[in-house]
Amino acid sequence: MAKARGRQFFANPGPTNIPDSVLRAMDRPSIDFNDPDFVEVYDAARAGVKRVLRTGHHLFMYNASGHGAWEASLTNLLSPGDAVLVLESGYFSDEWAAMARGFGLEVRTVAADWRVGVSMADVERALAEDKAHAIKAVCVVHNETATGMMIPLPAVRAALDKAKHPALFLVDTISSLGSLEFRMDDWGIDCVVGGSQKGLMLPTGMSFTGVSEKAMAAHAKAKLPRFYFDWTMMANRPQKSFIGTVPVNIFYGLRESVRLIEEEGLDNVVARHSRLAEATRRAARVWAGNNGPALYCTTPDRLSDSVTAILMPQGFNGDALRKTIRERYNVSLGGGLGKLGGTLFRIGHLGDLNEPMLLGALAAVEMGLRVEGVPHGRGGVDAAMEYLAAA
Ligand code: PLP
Repeated sequence: MAKARGRQFFANPGPTNIPDSVLRAMDRPSIDFNDPDFVEVYDAARAGVKRVLRTGHHLFMYNASGHGAWEASLTNLLSPGDAVLVLESGYFSDEWAAMARGFGLEVRTVAADWRVGVSMADVERALAEDKAHAIKAVCVVHNETATGMMIPLPAVRAALDKAKHPALFLVDTISSLGSLEFRMDDWGIDCVVGGSQKGLMLPTGMSFTGVSEKAMAAHAKAKLPRFYFDWTMMANRPQKSFIGTVPVNIFYGLRESVRLIEEEGLDNVVARHSRLAEATRRAARVWAGNNGPALYCTTPDRLSDSVTAILMPQGFNGDALRKTIRERYNVSLGGGLGKLGGTLFRIGHLGDLNEPMLLGALAAVEMGLRVEGVPHGRGGVDAAMEYLAAA
């Protein structure tokens, strides 16, 4: 295969495209993290993340990918033997649950069909049945990156309030922040887990948690062992985060990425993601003709606006399709995770993305379907263009 030329069209659901201005902002020599020039950048970037989270509460940041922030959320808030209620959404809710078990927590699950999504009636029932309030935290992945489905967070908050349940509300916003509407304080979220490499358009490796006052009170009593992620230790450091060295370059990038988000306007960012997602779905619905690949998520009002998962027809492998598309057209797509491996492919449409970038990726998918001999309806890209032209 000849060496690929031109820019790779990166349609992965994370990491995502890094804007050129963010790359340039990070391309600089090291600086002492106590240098006043850096502290100014650091403070501005932190304040920006709080605005994107829409919170006035606490923010702790880590040299770690999203898993580190998950670990911080559990170890800072809970004690051995505490129960947590995990709303099943897919691969990532399973992973968070497995981590909780690993820390000696009792994991209760509101089970769900990954294609349909969790039922809010089941969530209400699980909370109402817990009369003794053994459940100390409810864990929800806002946007399940593995399946392309989102969970309406205000409905979960309403279920907690209806049951008058005092559990902490923990949310993973790793693939929703800076892409889908997200309001930590208005939605009564106690701890939110976020990462650098998706809607914030940065390299992987920095993650963070927003923490409410209620969660800080729970933290004061929480007994799970922790050190590197300990919020009390962090709160006593001048940087209020990072037990070790601060990743200085990423903060120059973060200040720029927040500037880009605010220049566009958070509401416009959300609207752009919704538009690009709908165009992707229009294409996918056409491809589903002739017994072709179909949207994995079957609940229309839960379809994710940051990633679309598309289920291959029986007998066809999503990874083979992705390989063809990458090798022939230099387009990178996401694959199926865990038990979904090979069964689907995922189009990431979040972060620094516009119409022609998306259409390029969709065209490569449609060509790939032809090359691989996968049955499908023709004209998906046309349907996407039609929608985008009118939107
Ligand atoms: N949660 C969600 C929703 C994710 O999409 C991911 C990664 O893609 C994670 C958690 C894990 O984050 P990381 O891979 O940064 O550790």
